[in-house]
Amino acid sequence: MLEQQTLRLLKIISAPFLIVQPDGLIIWANRAMAQLLEREIDELVGKPLRTFTANDGQAVSKLLRLFSSSGNWLVGALKLCKTDLSVIDFPCEGCLFRPATRSEPALISIRFNQQLQFQALNQKIEELNTEIRRRMMVEAALRDSETRIRTLVDCSPLAIQVFAPDGTVIRVNKAWEKMWGTSLKSLRGLNVLKDNQLQAQGILTLLDRVFQGESLEFPLYEYDRSQLINVPHPNATLWVRAFGYPVITNDGRLQEVVLIQENVTDKVCLEREVEHYRHHLETLIEARTTELRRQQTFTEAVLNNISDGIVACDEQGMLSLFNRATIEMHGIDQETLPPEQWASRYRLLQPDGVTLMSINQVPLFRAFEGKPVKEQELVIERADGSKLSVLCSGQLMKDNNGRKLGAVISMHDITLQKHAQTQMLQAKQAAEAANRAKSVFLANVSHELRTPLNAILGFAQLLENDNRIPQDELRNVAIIERAGNHLLALIDDILEISRIEAGRSRLITDTFDLSATLQQLKETIGPLAKIKGLQFHAEFSPDLPHFVMGDEHHLRQVLVNLFDNAIKYTQLGEIHFTVKPKTEQTLYFEIADTGRGIADEQKRRIFEPFYQINGDATKGEGTGLGLSLTQKFISLMGGELNVESTLGQGSIFSFALPLRRADKLPAISPGKVIGLAANQPAPRILLAEDDLDNQQLVKQLLERIGCVVATACNGLEAVECFQSWRPELILMDISMPVMNGYRAIRAIRSLSGGEKLPILALTGSIRMEDRGPVIEGGCNGFIDKPVQADRLYEMMGRMLGLKFDYAETPRDASAMPGQAETSVTLSALPQEIRRQLADSAAILDLSAVQQIAEQLSTDYPDEAGIITRLLENFHFDTLLELCRTND
Ligand code: ADP
Repeated sequence: MLEQQTLRLLKIISAPFLIVQPDGLIIWANRAMAQLLEREIDELVGKPLRTFTANDGQAVSKLLRLFSSSGNWLVGALKLCKTDLSVIDFPCEGCLFRPATRSEPALISIRFNQQLQFQALNQKIEELNTEIRRRMMVEAALRDSETRIRTLVDCSPLAIQVFAPDGTVIRVNKAWEKMWGTSLKSLRGLNVLKDNQLQAQGILTLLDRVFQGESLEFPLYEYDRSQLINVPHPNATLWVRAFGYPVITNDGRLQEVVLIQENVTDKVCLEREVEHYRHHLETLIEARTTELRRQQTFTEAVLNNISDGIVACDEQGMLSLFNRATIEMHGIDQETLPPEQWASRYRLLQPDGVTLMSINQVPLFRAFEGKPVKEQELVIERADGSKLSVLCSGQLMKDNNGRKLGAVISMHDITLQKHAQTQMLQAKQAAEAANRAKSVFLANVSHELRTPLNAILGFAQLLENDNRIPQDELRNVAIIERAGNHLLALIDDILEISRIEAGRSRLITDTFDLSATLQQLKETIGPLAKIKGLQFHAEFSPDLPHFVMGDEHHLRQVLVNLFDNAIKYTQLGEIHFTVKPKTEQTLYFEIADTGRGIADEQKRRIFEPFYQINGDATKGEGTGLGLSLTQKFISLMGGELNVESTLGQGSIFSFALPLRRADKLPAISPGKVIGLAANQPAPRILLAEDDLDNQQLVKQLLERIGCVVATACNGLEAVECFQSWRPELILMDISMPVMNGYRAIRAIRSLSGGEKLPILALTGSIRMEDRGPVIEGGCNGFIDKPVQADRLYEMMGRMLGLKFDYAETPRDASAMPGQAETSVTLSALPQEIRRQLADSAAILDLSAVQQIAEQLSTDYPDEAGIITRLLENFHFDTLLELCRTND
């Protein structure tokens, strides 16, 4: 136990002091302790320390264990409980108080140190200060952070809206104001949890969840801005993407709700637009695809059903398409082959059907190379060995950017056509040969008939003028002559028709003096009509052109034929001849008579060859070929012959012809010949010409150079003059009264000394191809009227072997009329060819002569031309003469 003295000492120390056993039982306490607990010392001793503390038993035991662990003073604290049950938190120190002997129990001294209490207080205050500083710093940091957050919120491009837990809006940022076009003020009274629009959008349910503490992303929704701020707003609808975040305090309370919104209207509109376009595009693509499919089906159907072959190659030049017809044509299928193998694989031959095509000849390859392929012929040798002729057309295929896509060709089978063509050609050749044979035959017959006829007519004419013939016999002679002339006309007409049918009758278009031609006709026809007691009226419009371009000879022939008929078939009344312009370049011709007319049913038939209205033939009036020839000539000249007629009253034959107005004819240049060369006897020339003006003109031309001239006004006079005067040369007009030139020539030829006499025919504009009958009639050449001096002298010179004196300045030779005739010679031809020609001409072998002319056309074009011209008129005799002359 403690020494008494120690205890007394302890009693008086002012610090409250306790001694307890290790189990906490108080065994001693001083006054200060009793006062601290506001009790008496006795109330404390013998009681457990825990009785006077507000600490739980465990805490007290723990403290006692701490103090009993060391002999040094250790600091602790107890919550002392006063009698009024108030509690003082009091710091204390305790240490183990070891007994002097082991048998004594250990005790624990506990002193409650006031100083300790202040120290603790100070420490507390210090801690408080530290805490206050820390809190102030935290607050400052919080303020900073809040400012930063506010700035961030304000600067955020996203609209941020903060709601109180009841759903009312507390704050909005600038982006929000911009997005909704309004401010916080306008939202007063609005509660997001009651928003009908959000309700309708189904957003409200989600928002409720946020207000219950869940963070959520909202599905895209559409918001009518005008509803939000109760003001109608243009472009009121907004598309919004939103996130909701609850702000929860540490103690789990909902402080506020943050709603972050993004205006995605533009994006949505764009997306919708894109969607719209996508949809539109899809529709288009679908329509296009359907159309393409339809086209493809159509193309396939066409390709496989057309009879033409279609072949294509791709951009690499590899075969890419054979339609059904192509496969059938080749007899083998399509293979993907390069161009160099096409010809050999598919046996593409040249049109000769033998030679294999080179790559550059193959139509598809040519098309692929961009060359034009139009109806190129080739032959396909089929797999079975048979051959097809085809025509190929094709082209290169390019896209819109000009990029090569390949090529395509079509093949049209012309095998049958070619076969038919060959047959036609053979038939044509046969027909032509037959036609030629007919022409040769006709020429031959006409020649054979003409010769005796000439004699018959010539002698008949002589008999007619022979005084010794009794009058009653003369009638028989007249019959002979009339029948002979009829036969001659018939032969001429048949020849003309055969010429037209053989396509040999051609127009010779040149400038001619229309007024002179019409005047001449008027003067010729007028007297003939008068002889028959008919009146003749010619009415020429003053608007007629003087000179025209046309075929004068044919026109004259047509008009003469129609006049001939008009006079023939009119017994009483008149013949009216009208010519007037129809259009700018067309002239109208009309011959009207008051004759017997033509019945309707015969109007068409009269144009048929050999058709004559009953009885005409028997009367020997014409051949029945006149109108047929006339109609053909008119149509050859570009017109159409029409007839209007009333039986018993008369007929009108009319036609219109294109006759273009022309400039004046070139003036006849004075000849270069000025006279006969010296030491030549003056040639005696008989000039038979009924036109006295013309007669005078030619006579003067002849006399001027020293010829002796006798004249006759008709054929009969000419025959007589020939007999009495024996001229060296006769110039014979063809159309003359009493006896025409043909007949006169024929008569002279039949007289002794007349056979070889040079006779030149004077003709009004006779065409090359009509020289035949003139020459066949017995004349040696012809001179066109109006007579040109050059031509006259040149022909005379040739016939009589004359030499002339010429003027000093010769004119341009090329301008001399008749130049062509001076060079009519075949001397340039090799002798052998001339001999062949002569042989063929002698037997009138037209085709043989034609063949020779064709062979000569390259090396001897002039000579070939001469031969062809002679042939066209069956002038075998002239040809024969030319061949022999040059021998
Ligand atoms: P032809 O040589 O017989 O005159 P055409 O061919 O010239 O032959 O005429 C055929 C027929 O048309 C004549 O036979 C004649 O009956 C009839 N014909 C032609 N012209 C006339 C006309 N002007 N008036 C009456 N009949 C005509």
